[in-house]
Amino acid sequence: MSPSTRRLLKESTDLQTNPSPYFHAAPVSDTNLFDWHFTLLGPPAPSPYAGGIYHGRITLPPTYPLRPPSFRFLTPSGRFEVNREICLSISGHHEETWQPAWGIRTALIALRSFMDGDAKGQVGGLDVADEVRRRYARESRAWRCDGCEGSKGRENEVVMREWWGVCRERGVVVEGEEDKSEAAAADAGISAGVDAGAGADTSQIPQAEVQPQQPQQQQQLQQQQHTPPATRPPPPVPAAPAAAAATSQDTPWLDRAIIGVIIALVAMILRRLTRDMDMD
Ligand SMILES: [Zn+2]
Repeated sequence: MSPSTRRLLKESTDLQTNPSPYFHAAPVSDTNLFDWHFTLLGPPAPSPYAGGIYHGRITLPPTYPLRPPSFRFLTPSGRFEVNREICLSISGHHEETWQPAWGIRTALIALRSFMDGDAKGQVGGLDVADEVRRRYARESRAWRCDGCEGSKGRENEVVMREWWGVCRERGVVVEGEEDKSEAAAADAGISAGVDAGAGADTSQIPQAEVQPQQPQQQQQLQQQQHTPPATRPPPPVPAAPAAAAATSQDTPWLDRAIIGVIIALVAMILRRLTRDMDMD
């Protein structure tokens, strides 16, 4: 058995035993481990893809995981061209950023957060109105794939609901998936004590969300800590609520830690501001 085959078998097993409620992914057939299909839940509200369920294809190179997988959406999303390889820093178009320690799970979570990023100038990216994206999101749930054993020609929504059943059996919390994501996003904004809109720089999300890059995010937090508070308003939330909600399943403790740091920072800055005003 080649190292690539062994690795892919391991990932396939891991995705079954530690299921993510955000996506289902499996080889198209038992005989070819290098061709997978996935079914992915769109990012939480206020994303225009919220509630959308998208199906797509993952192609693994023979040298995987030394070389990255590549992705294409088969369901129309208004974000990615249908059946065209997507340009992401985690996929085949930017091989230098890929790390063999990442896997299909990491890549799909990143892909999900990438959806909310800016499509401008990306190969395979589409720049259409949010209204159109919302319509695609609604329609996506009834989309069917005839090309894989995983979906057996069933609607994306049916595939996802069945997968959520598997998740629950494994003790993974799924309940009211979309509602929960929405609530989590709202919570993140409120508990940080900052206008949620202030942190909605969506270009930051893909960077912040890829798990291996979390230290960078913490560095950002520290930099803000050193900025004199009198010269600027309370800082925007570096982890936009959408990003926080998206990762909550995979790194709940990390999310809580980051939100905790943000709350502490905001409290500290407010205290300083109050003190400065008293001195005036
Ligand atoms: Zn399929």
